[in-house]
Amino acid sequence: MAEKGPERTCIYCRTTRNKKELLRFVLAPDRTLVPDLLAKLPGRGAYTCMTSVCVKGAADKRQFSRAFKGEVKGADGAGLIDQLATRIEERIASYISLANKAGKVSSGTDMVLERMKDQSPGFLFIASDISADIGQKVKALAERNGVEYCTLFDKEKLGALIGKEMRVVVAIGVGGFIEPLKQETAKLRNFFEEGR
Ligand SMILES: [Zn+2]
Repeated sequence: MAEKGPERTCIYCRTTRNKKELLRFVLAPDRTLVPDLLAKLPGRGAYTCMTSVCVKGAADKRQFSRAFKGEVKGADGAGLIDQLATRIEERIASYISLANKAGKVSSGTDMVLERMKDQSPGFLFIASDISADIGQKVKALAERNGVEYCTLFDKEKLGALIGKEMRVVVAIGVGGFIEPLKQETAKLRNFFEEGR
């Protein structure tokens, strides 16, 4: 392990990891459970792995009540996963806007397909409502060129994020907040791809 830092234990599966790799929860003053994605909220924290299995498991087994020693409001697994997904999506959206302001975004199928032929973009966002044939074409070319992609947001939202009309593909160029975008999309996958 390259990074040494304080470690915490997942309250569900009991795995101990660097606390940066875990998800922190705190209690609001009214004892509502709050996911603390940026790990900055004050107060005592309880930690789970960043997976739907551990978040839901901890809620179902009443581990949050145990960790915070008493009644906890809002400790409902499905509700927590929804909240987390929404918050992560908001963060992804703001990074796409920032990349756009930094001039690192190209969009539209023709432009993105053209761009992948010569100069590889760092990351692609593909609209959830892209037509099946164009979607396949874009994904196949991305895979061939080793470009990571994520299917997220519909074409209206993707376009709006970069101040344009509907867009089915948005490419983020190198230097355009690619690392935080990759981290956030990886988190989202953890929550979605395990039988959410
Ligand atoms: Zn865990």
